[in-house]
Amino acid sequence: MRIAVGGIRHESNTFSPLHTEYTDFWRLYGADAQAEGATALAAEQGAELVPTLVAYAYPGGVVRAAAYRRLKDELLAALEAALPVDGVYLDLHGAMHVEGVGDGETDLSQAVRDLVGPEVPISVSLDLHGNISPALVANVNALTGLRTAPHRDGTETRCRALALLVRAIRECLDLEPVLIKVPLLLSGEAVMTDVEPARSLYARLPAMAQEPGILDASLLVGCAWTDGPYTTASVIVVGAGDAHAARKQAQSLARDVWAARHAFRFGHETAPPEEAVSLAVAAAEAPVYITDSGDNVTAGGAGDTTWMLQALLAQGAQDALVAGLFDPVAVERCAEAGVGSALTLAIGGRCDPQHHASVTVTGRVQHLGRGAHEGDGAPTMATLVCGGVTVVVCVDRRPFAERATIAQAGVDPDRCKIVVVKQGYLFPDLVDHAPRVIMALTPGATDLELERLPYRHVPRPIYPLDRGLAWKPCCASSSTGNR
Ligand SMILES: [Zn+2]
Repeated sequence: MRIAVGGIRHESNTFSPLHTEYTDFWRLYGADAQAEGATALAAEQGAELVPTLVAYAYPGGVVRAAAYRRLKDELLAALEAALPVDGVYLDLHGAMHVEGVGDGETDLSQAVRDLVGPEVPISVSLDLHGNISPALVANVNALTGLRTAPHRDGTETRCRALALLVRAIRECLDLEPVLIKVPLLLSGEAVMTDVEPARSLYARLPAMAQEPGILDASLLVGCAWTDGPYTTASVIVVGAGDAHAARKQAQSLARDVWAARHAFRFGHETAPPEEAVSLAVAAAEAPVYITDSGDNVTAGGAGDTTWMLQALLAQGAQDALVAGLFDPVAVERCAEAGVGSALTLAIGGRCDPQHHASVTVTGRVQHLGRGAHEGDGAPTMATLVCGGVTVVVCVDRRPFAERATIAQAGVDPDRCKIVVVKQGYLFPDLVDHAPRVIMALTPGATDLELERLPYRHVPRPIYPLDRGLAWKPCCASSSTGNR
């Protein structure tokens, strides 16, 4: 049994002023392109994996048309060379948006289907933040999504997608995926799978997949920062030979997701930016971590807005750290000045100057450094002490998700009173060392106040933009595969 493996994975934030380029993608070819964890499973199942291209990039702005075309051409050429195959496994995200193309997964799955023909089964793994089009579901035979946020089950999910495919091939199953789009716009921060109501909803999926006639069940909450026509929550149930059973299960879950819509809440305390700073200054705990949630670089934020820096400076915060700000020009200025030098410079606000200005600070360069795996060369980070506020400027968008990465900027976060990071929910290593976490509701490309975002393409009506909406899954548009 020969199974081709490939994929282009990206979570595209259409509100970001930046674009995602070809060089932003890690590209794995040949033997490297075997999805993580799949090799052992394939060996166990007696399947031969035929790698094509697996490409993935950090969440960011819309993918450039030329970048996508090039990646797609490379994947299709490798797939064509691999034919004939018994099945295709695609490792996708679900929220890729391509300049001039729109939904990337719709386009890619169509191209793969056209190439392999109608008889070859295709199975797809997806991120829980994918926005799913009916066309994607119609183009493939099986789909399964991550079941944890923050994500911990990537390998498990890829293996599940592959196992579904192997089973479909071996048992000649006619798989029938059912999709129900639930008209809900949910930020990732409101859906943590260890917090209710998500915990109970996700806990049902394994049992649903064991029901007669059902092979798999997924709940994808979608990516609210991709302003596209398929941006909603989605329920997907894969049935085999019993479309009625799959539809019934999907409707039951969709109904309960909709019923829980008012109950999705943030996992941390929240406050507007100025209040977040005053709460942190007055707090008995230290360090207080403040997440700059509207400019969350792990969800595609530009990483250079200065709302939090301005609030810290305005309130005269002491022992405060901003880790970090994306500003290659400022890194270069600090490097030219050298460690110990004082300088006045504008920092941040370069990506979208029309909507967000830089802030001028005077400070002393305390540290020039590079990340652990960045080798030698020009500094990639500069640490600038501006009175009570220390700012780390970086040549790229960095989440500083671990204390060790903050330490690489020459600052011990445990000794700070306030640490600001450009994240949404705080990453686990920091949570473990944060006696208090405040999620600052800053404006930006990952604004958690969804009503503030200039949506133009999401399907309407949708909750919470259209609050009085009544909805039932039986009235919803749904799609049954295949093709
Ligand atoms: Zn995700």
